[in-house]
Amino acid sequence: MSLWFTEKQTENFGITAKINKTLHTEQTEFQKLDMVETEEFGNMLLLDDMVMTTEKDEFVYHEMVAHVPLFTHPNPEHVLVVGGGDGGVIREILKHPSVKKATLVDIDGKVIEYSKKYLPTIAGQLEDPRVDVQVGDGFMHIAKSENAYDVIMVDSTEPVGPAVNLFTKGFYAGIYKALKEDGIFVAQTDNPWFKADLIANAQRDVAEIFPITRLYTANIPTYPSGLWTFTLGSKKYDPLEVSEERFHEIETKYYTKELHKAAFALPKFVADLLK
Ligand code: SAM
Repeated sequence: MSLWFTEKQTENFGITAKINKTLHTEQTEFQKLDMVETEEFGNMLLLDDMVMTTEKDEFVYHEMVAHVPLFTHPNPEHVLVVGGGDGGVIREILKHPSVKKATLVDIDGKVIEYSKKYLPTIAGQLEDPRVDVQVGDGFMHIAKSENAYDVIMVDSTEPVGPAVNLFTKGFYAGIYKALKEDGIFVAQTDNPWFKADLIANAQRDVAEIFPITRLYTANIPTYPSGLWTFTLGSKKYDPLEVSEERFHEIETKYYTKELHKAAFALPKFVADLLK
């Protein structure tokens, strides 16, 4: 008899995966953590019954969060990841030789612990000497940072529970302060089918703080609706103005220099959210 897991993406719609076995499950200090082996997507990390990452499709999200800002900035050296305890974004950041230090601040050390154990292809770079892993609240870390980072990536859970503060105008203002004078930030901002208001609000808030604000998308089959968005705020560099020579060779499976620009071409119903 097969076991099936359904993530309710709205009250009326969900996504279902066949589960071969449960590898770990616990209620941490912050959220319900499940690590399961699925037939279709390999090992899957769930937090509060929401798909966070899977071995099969993780590369899409992690490459698109990391390489768009890192190729837009001419010389990213100090990078911060808020959340990201599965280690996937860190793995991508380290592909850039200019990066001297990548700091990760995730509120839940259990996510880091079990990602290292059950998602080695994703979390395998967290021990790299360039990486500083901290367990703490990203909101507080940003509040006490000033002129510190070239690029900040917010790889957080949904704006519920511990991440509720990570989608506020105050947080984006804190990010502006934590960035250097030519810094760039990107935040995952969910999907336009079920979370249009979140995207519209984030764009409005970021545009009131940053001179350059952009939205780009990627296809992530295990995330709600499959169409995912990323909100970018930049103090100086425009992701659509990156020169050809900036794109040094790196190993990817989704991101390309052509897609770097094409990802900003939005379906009309998504572009309309930005008006
Ligand atoms: N890629 C996923 C997505 O787009 O939904 C996110 C994956 S990552 C595992 C999300 C991480 O955000 C979790 O490990 C969670 O512990 C962390 N997180 C939530 N709130 C946080 C906060 N206030 N400070 C730092 N990390 C936080």
